[in-house]
Amino acid sequence: MADHGEPLRRTRLGRGPALRLGGCRRRVDEARGYPEAFVDALTKAGWMAALIPEEYGSSGLGLTEASVIMDEINRSGGNSGACHGQMYSMNTLVRHGSEAQRRKYLPRIAAGELRLQSMGVTEPTAGTDTTRIKTTAIGSGDRYVINGQKVWISRIQHSDLMILLARTTPFDQVSRKSEGMSIFIVDLHEAQRKGMSVRPILNMVNHETNEVFFDDLEIPAENLIGEEGQGFKYILTGLNAERVLIAAECIGDGYRFIDKVTAYTRERTVFGRPIGQTQGVQFPIAESFIEVEAANLMRYEACRLYDAGEPCGGQANMAKNLAAKASWEAANACIQFHGGFGFAAEYDVERKFRETRLYQVAPISTNLILSYVAEHMLGLPRSF
Ligand SMILES: Cc1cc2nc3c(=O)[nH]c(=O)nc-3n(C[C@H](O)[C@H](O)[C@H](O)COP(=O)(O)OP(=O)(O)OC[C@H]3O[C@@H](n4cnc5c(N)ncnc54)[C@H](O)[C@@H]3O)c2cc1C
Repeated sequence: MADHGEPLRRTRLGRGPALRLGGCRRRVDEARGYPEAFVDALTKAGWMAALIPEEYGSSGLGLTEASVIMDEINRSGGNSGACHGQMYSMNTLVRHGSEAQRRKYLPRIAAGELRLQSMGVTEPTAGTDTTRIKTTAIGSGDRYVINGQKVWISRIQHSDLMILLARTTPFDQVSRKSEGMSIFIVDLHEAQRKGMSVRPILNMVNHETNEVFFDDLEIPAENLIGEEGQGFKYILTGLNAERVLIAAECIGDGYRFIDKVTAYTRERTVFGRPIGQTQGVQFPIAESFIEVEAANLMRYEACRLYDAGEPCGGQANMAKNLAAKASWEAANACIQFHGGFGFAAEYDVERKFRETRLYQVAPISTNLILSYVAEHMLGLPRSF
């Protein structure tokens, strides 16, 4: 009969601060709560405003540094999904917002008075085909009136502001399908009093995400970001940043899984020797380590190009793809070689396993990345 070792609680004792931190993250996960204290601490320390330029009250760091922050949160066992929205939405406002918008919002975000954590793009009927969104914003004097529906819009209940994509010209009246969409900055508190309603979606990970309904929501015309009709182009700046940051988070997860599984398999003794001595155990771990390291190189290349203002769509997509696959391979090795203990919440493997799985579907699915690379990097015919 197999030796199942000591009871769970006794095997985990003696880990000190790591256990206490793990316990804190686990309690938030079990309660399906929001890590309010953690996000507040990150904000107070200035990390959440890293991308805000110095003249607006922060450090003006690049995407490279922002990606290190996200990477470290995940590598330490946290989940950047609770707060990464502010990082990837920020450049949309910094790069495309007017001076008046930057002055109005950035210093207050930098001071931690406002959170810009939400981005509303996805719709239930359009899905990945963003150009088919049906949410409309109709200009009327000094206002836009918004009607429609979004789905999977994250962190609305823990944000003050949202970047919203809506059609300002109907699909059948534009010469290119990517035209006629605009982005707006929406005050979420005011919107919820004036025609926006929110319905939470219970999901596989502890990730606050929602259905959102707009019913004649009026917002000031001055909330339009950039030129009307060019919103899709602007949102792509944010999406490239998002892909690179998600890559960094997956890399953090990947290293976390590898650290945990190597530590565990060095110690866990079955059949009279550490299981990590067996090549059948070593090889999947070594393989996923190689993949995480390779993904990390592509992530830094994408960051370099983004920060230099050069086109980086290919590298951002490839980094995201490599990293999401690598973290998933590492997750599988980690849970597999923890045996039954990998399924115990107390070991903090199954939570990360669930969290990292998301990134092959959202914010962009693996298939769509392959399609981007085939078309834009290899010149193959467009398939849709
Ligand atoms: C937890 C979570 C949080 C999210 N947060 C946000 C958010 O804050 N803001 C936001 O705007 N969105 C958010 N999303 C939405 C996310 O970006 C979408 O779920 C994702 O882009 C996929 O869109 P879809 O779900 O409509 O899938 P669909 O478009 O229906 O696609 C389903 C699957 O079909 C395949 N597929 C579809 N089209 C093609 C094709 N042409 N070629 C090959 N394969 C194809 C892909 O494998 C894809 O995974 C979130 C989603 C989740 C699950």
